[in-house]
Amino acid sequence: MTFREWDGPLTADLVREPAKFGLGQVPSRLAPDATTKAICGYCSTGCGLKLHLKDGEAINVTPDPDYPVNIGTTCPKGWEALTALDAPDRATTPLLHGEAVDWDTALKYFCGKMRGIIEKHGSEAAAFISTGQMMLEEMAYLGALAKFGMGLIHGDGNTRQCMATAVTAYKESFGFDAPPFTYADFEESDVLVFIGANPCIAHPIMWQRVLRNKRKPEVIVVDPRTTETAMSATQHYAIKPKSDLTLLYGLAYLLARDGGIDHDFVKANTTGYDAFASFVSSFTPMRVCAETGLSTEQLAHFAQTIRDGTPRVSFWWTMGVNQGHQATRTAQAIINLALMTGNIGKPGTGANSITGQCNAMGSRLFSNTTNLLGGHDFRNAAHREKVGAATGIPVERIPSRPSLAYDQIIDAADAGTVKALWFIATNPSHSWIDQSRFNRVLDKLDFLVVQDIYCSTETAKRAHLVLPAAGWGEKEGCFINSERRIGYSPKVRRAPGQALADFHIFRLIAHYWSCEDLFREWTSPEAVFRVLQRCTADQPCDLTGIEGYEEIGRCGGIQWPAAKMTNEEWRMTNERRLFEDGKFFTPDKRAKFVFDEPQAAPEQRCEEFPLILITGRGTSAQWHTETRTGKSAVLAKMAPEELLLDLHAEDAARFGIRDGTSVRVISKRAQLTATARVTTCVSPGEVFLPMHDNQVNQLTHSAFDPHSRQPAYKHSAVRLEKV
Ligand code: SF4
Repeated sequence: MTFREWDGPLTADLVREPAKFGLGQVPSRLAPDATTKAICGYCSTGCGLKLHLKDGEAINVTPDPDYPVNIGTTCPKGWEALTALDAPDRATTPLLHGEAVDWDTALKYFCGKMRGIIEKHGSEAAAFISTGQMMLEEMAYLGALAKFGMGLIHGDGNTRQCMATAVTAYKESFGFDAPPFTYADFEESDVLVFIGANPCIAHPIMWQRVLRNKRKPEVIVVDPRTTETAMSATQHYAIKPKSDLTLLYGLAYLLARDGGIDHDFVKANTTGYDAFASFVSSFTPMRVCAETGLSTEQLAHFAQTIRDGTPRVSFWWTMGVNQGHQATRTAQAIINLALMTGNIGKPGTGANSITGQCNAMGSRLFSNTTNLLGGHDFRNAAHREKVGAATGIPVERIPSRPSLAYDQIIDAADAGTVKALWFIATNPSHSWIDQSRFNRVLDKLDFLVVQDIYCSTETAKRAHLVLPAAGWGEKEGCFINSERRIGYSPKVRRAPGQALADFHIFRLIAHYWSCEDLFREWTSPEAVFRVLQRCTADQPCDLTGIEGYEEIGRCGGIQWPAAKMTNEEWRMTNERRLFEDGKFFTPDKRAKFVFDEPQAAPEQRCEEFPLILITGRGTSAQWHTETRTGKSAVLAKMAPEELLLDLHAEDAARFGIRDGTSVRVISKRAQLTATARVTTCVSPGEVFLPMHDNQVNQLTHSAFDPHSRQPAYKHSAVRLEKV
C-alpha cells in the first residue's frame, strides 16, 4: 500500500500555507486502522517493520516476519521508532535568530542571505552538509538543487564520518563503490572475520543472521577491545590500537608463504598480485607480532583458519577500520585477503563493509556531493552529458569538479572563504572530531542554517535559521541498505506544526530561488525515483528494471543491480551478490591489489598523556548523538545513566582509581568527567568512551585518512586524574 505525496504545481497559496495543501497530512489512501510496511530509519541494516495505524496515524511497530533482511526480528531502536516523533522539542516552525517565523519569511531570508553571500564572495562561499538519514529522493533533490539550481560547488555528507573509506577503497580496488555481499552470506560462511566491527550491539540484526548460520562457523574478531562480539567469537585477536594494517599484511604474508593463494582466480581476475606479494614479504611473523602484540601462535592460527575455511571465508569491517588514519589502505588490505584467497563472488565470502546509517548507501550513489548522481564523476564530460540528459538539467549547470571533502569545507570556513553552511539532518556540533574547534568555526560563519526535526540539537542551537523538518514516518521515500537493497517507506504520521518533509522544503527553496523550472519533473518522491533510475542506466548500480514503489514493496526490497533484462530471472531471486563471474568494474575488469607502508597514528602516548582513548558505540539502544534515541524512556533504561570510562585494572591501580568513582579524562584539547568502570574488556594502556555523550568529541584528535578524508576517531592520547 502506498501513499503519493502532493505532486501538484507550486501555487502562491501553497507557498504561503503549505500545510493546508496536504504537505503535512496523513496518507489519505491508507485505511484509518490499516497495517502497513516500512523500513527502519535508523541503521543500514534496513529492517522491515510493520506499522499499525489507529484513526489514520501509526501508533505501534512490530518487526516484519516476511522481510528478507530481519525475518521477524528488530533491535530496540526499531521497536521504539515512533517514540522519537512525539518529543516535545520537535521543531514545529521556522526559527530566525530564535524567533518563530512563517515559511514565507524563512525562505525569503534563506534565499536572500545565501544569494547575497554568493554574489559577494562567489559560489564557493556557501556549502551544504547532507546526511545518510534522509530518504534517497530528497537527498538527491538537495544535491541537485544546491549544485544545479543554486550553483554551489561544495557539499558533503555526514556519511564522510562513517563510510567514505569503504567508498574510496572499493572504487580503487573494484572500480566502483560496490559492497559485494548479500546478508545470506552471514549464514553461508565457514569463517567470518570481523575487523573493527561489533555487530552484537552496532548491527544486532546482522548478528542474528550470523547466529542462524548452521555451518558451525569460526567467528573471528579483530578488535583492541573485548567487545560483545569478541566475547561471542571463537577467536579474538586483541591487537594494539591501529595495528590492524600490519596484522592484515602479516596474514597475507603467511597465506602467500604457506599455500593459501587461489592462483587461478588471482591470475584471471586481478592485477598487482606479484607486487603485493613482494611488498608483504617484509611482514614476517616476528615483525607483525612485535607491532600488533599477538603471539606467533595466534598469528599462525589465524592464518591457518582462513586457509582451512577457504573458499567460504567472509571478511566484514566497519568503523574500527573506516575511522583510522590509514583507513582506506586498511580496508584494501581486507579486500586483498579476499582476492588472494579467491573468497569473493561466492556464497559465504566477500570483503564486506557494513554501512552505518539507514541510507548511507543511497548517499554514496545519489547525494551529488563527491559523486555526480548515480555514481558518476563530475570531472567526466560524458558523465555530465549523460546525467544532464537523464535529469533534463542543462549540462552547463553541472559542475565539472567534485566538492571539497567535509573537513576541507570546515577548514575553508575557518579560513573565511566559506561563509555560509547549511546542515540537513545531522548534528556535527556533537559528532565532529575535535568538537571545540569545530564549534569555534561554526561561530565564525555569516550564515548557519540547520534543517532538522528537532530545534534542540547542539548544532540547531547555534543556527541563525532553523528549518523544521518531518521525521521518518512523516514522509515517504526509499533507503538503500548495506547489502544494496532498496526499500520503500511510507508516510504514516502527520508532522507537527509547520514541519515539512525535507523533500517539500527543497521544492519550496527551488521556488523561492526561481529555479523550479529545472525541476519540473521532480514533483513527488516517486517521480524523482524515476529520474534517478534513468541516471543509473548502464552503471553497476543500474536501477532501470524496477517498476516503481509498488514493486519494491511487493518484492521485500530489491538489491541493485536491477537493470532491464530480457529475462525475468533476477526478479525470481531476492539475494544477489556481486562478482560471481569474476568480472569487476575497472576498465580491464580486474580487481586491483592496493597497498602502502603502515604509518604510526598521528597522536601517540607520551609521558603527559599515557593512555590511548578509543571511542565507539555504547549500547544497541543508542544511536549516534542520541537526538532520537535520547527521547525514548524505554531506550534510556537500556543504556547507562552516566558516562562510563572503561579502563583496565592495572591502569586503575596505577592511577589510584577505583571502580565507580569519578575520574577526569584529559586530552591536549579538553577534559571531561566520567565514572570509572574497571574492566578487562580494554587492555592496559587503553581506555574507552562511548561516542553518544556530547563531550566525548572534545577530546578526540583531529586526523584524517588521506584518501577518504574520513576522521580518525579511534586513537587519541589522554591522561586520567582522580576528581
Ligand atoms: S538493526 Fe538497524 S534497521 Fe534494524 S531495527 Fe535496529 S536500528 Fe532499525
